[in-house]
Amino acid sequence: MIDDWPTELLIGGQLCTGLGAAETIYDPRTAQSLGAVPEASANQADDAVAQASDAFHAWSRMAINQRSRLLLSIAETIERAKPWLAGLEAINCGKNPGQALDEELPAAADTFRYYAGLIRNQAAPMAGEYCPGQTSFVRRSAVGVVVAIAPWNYPIMMAAWKIAPALAAGNTVVFKPSELTPYTALALARLIASVVPPGVLNIVTGRGESVGRQLITNPRVRMISLTGGIPTGQKILQAAHKSVKRTHLELGGKAPVLVLDDADVEKTVAGVARYGYYNAGQDCTAACRIFVQKGIYDQFVDMLSERVGGLRFGVSRHQDDVGPLISDRQRNSIASFVERAREQSHIDVTVGGYIPDLEGYFYAPTLIVGAQQSDEIVQAEVFGPVVSVTCCDDEQQAVSWANASEYGLASSVWSGDIGRAMRVASELEYGATWINSHFLLASEMPHGGLRASGYGNDLSAFALDDYSVLRHIMVSH
Ligand code: NAD
Repeated sequence: MIDDWPTELLIGGQLCTGLGAAETIYDPRTAQSLGAVPEASANQADDAVAQASDAFHAWSRMAINQRSRLLLSIAETIERAKPWLAGLEAINCGKNPGQALDEELPAAADTFRYYAGLIRNQAAPMAGEYCPGQTSFVRRSAVGVVVAIAPWNYPIMMAAWKIAPALAAGNTVVFKPSELTPYTALALARLIASVVPPGVLNIVTGRGESVGRQLITNPRVRMISLTGGIPTGQKILQAAHKSVKRTHLELGGKAPVLVLDDADVEKTVAGVARYGYYNAGQDCTAACRIFVQKGIYDQFVDMLSERVGGLRFGVSRHQDDVGPLISDRQRNSIASFVERAREQSHIDVTVGGYIPDLEGYFYAPTLIVGAQQSDEIVQAEVFGPVVSVTCCDDEQQAVSWANASEYGLASSVWSGDIGRAMRVASELEYGATWINSHFLLASEMPHGGLRASGYGNDLSAFALDDYSVLRHIMVSH
C-alpha cells in the first residue's frame, strides 16, 4: 500500500501546488479514485518555460563532467527510490508490480547512466582544413528550452527517454506526463528538486488541451518532443510551424510479425503470447499483427489459441498476467474494435471480451483469427490485448502486407534460416526489426519510427543529435 502520493509540480527548483483544474486519477485495477492532482495553471506553465529559459545559459555551458555527474545523481536517486516509484507506477497504470520494479525502473535509471557516460565521449563529428589557411570543425550546441510530453503506458521510462538525452545535450526541459499517469513524474519532481539546479528540469502536469497546448505554443520553447498518438503529433506540428520549432515525434505503431514456414512454431507462439499481450497490449511495439505462411498456419493458430486461452488476467502478481487497461474509455475503444471485427463473417474471435466479475478496466486477451490485410483490425492501432493472425502465401506477400501500413515503428521475423530472416528484415520498412524475438530495447540502440509513426530517435547516441544543433567554426591561421 502506498500512503504518500505526490501532487506538487516542480517549477524553477520550487515544489508548488498546481493552480489549474484538478484531475481525478483512477486505479485501473479497481476503477476507484486514487485522489485528485491539480494541473498547472496557464501562468504556471508559462513560468516553467521562463525558468527553463533563464537556466539555459548556465546549464548549456556547464563543464561536461559536472553535467554528467548530475545525470548520474538522477540515476542514483531513481534507484534509491525504486520501491516507492515502482509502487506508484504499478498502481497508477495497473501494471504488474514486478514488471515496474525489475524492468521499467532499472531501465529508466540506466537511460540516465547511459547519457551521463556518452556525453563525456562526444567528439567533433568533423574537423579539417577544407579552405587553405582555415581549420574548420563542427561543434555541437544545445537547442534551447525543450518541452517534452509523454504518454501513459510507460510513464517513468518515457520520462527518462526524453529528459536524459535532452539534459545531456545541454538543453533545459519542461516535462509534462500524461494527465492519466502523473504520479511517478511528480515523485521525480520531489526527489530531484534539490539535485538539479533550479529551472534546468521543470515538471508540470495537466491535460494536453490545456497545459500541453500552453507549453507548445510558448515562443520561448525551441523544441517539442512528443511520444503519443498521431492526432497529437499533428497538433504539435501545427503549433511548431508558427515559430519554426524543432520537433521529435514518437507516435503510434502496429507491429507486423512475419512467421515464415521454417520458424520454430513453439518458440514463435510463446513470443507472440508474451509480447502481443505485454502491458495489456498497450505498447506501440506490441506483436499484434501476425502474418503466418500457409504451410504452418493451422498448427500456429491451434497452438496460439490454446496459449492465449490459458493466459491469466487479473490483479494477481504473476509476471505473465495480463493486467487492466488504463481507463474505461480505452477499454470501450478496444471493445468497439473487436465488435466491428466480429461483424466480418471471415473472422473468428476465439477468446476475449469484458470480464463482468472484475471491477477494474479489464478486457480478456483476444485473438482474431482469419483477419485479412484490408480489415480494420489488421490496419488500425488498437492499443490493447488484441492480436490478429492472417494467412499469407509466401514471404514476398508477408513483406508487402507488412509494409503496406501507415505505421513504421517495429516488426519481427521468425525463421529457422538466419540468411532468409536477414533478407526479409532488410526488406521491412520499420524503425526496428527483431529476428526470432520481439520487443527488447537497449539504451545503446535507437528507437524511432518511419511514416506516420513519426521521426527522430529515442535512446542511443542518435537521440543526442535530435537534441543538439551542429555549428561550423572556422579558424583562420
Ligand atoms: P496522446 O497522444 O493522447 O497523449 C500523449 C501526450 O500528449 C499526453 O501527455 C497528452 O496530455 C499530450 N497531449 C494531448 N493533446 C495535446 C495537445 N493538443 N497539445 C500538447 N500536448 C497534448 O497519447 P496517449 O493516449 O497518452 O498514448 C498512446 C499513444 O502513444 C499511442 O498511439 C501509442 O502508440 C503512442 N506511443 C508511442 C510510443 C513510441 O515510442 N513511438 C511509445 C508509447 C506510446
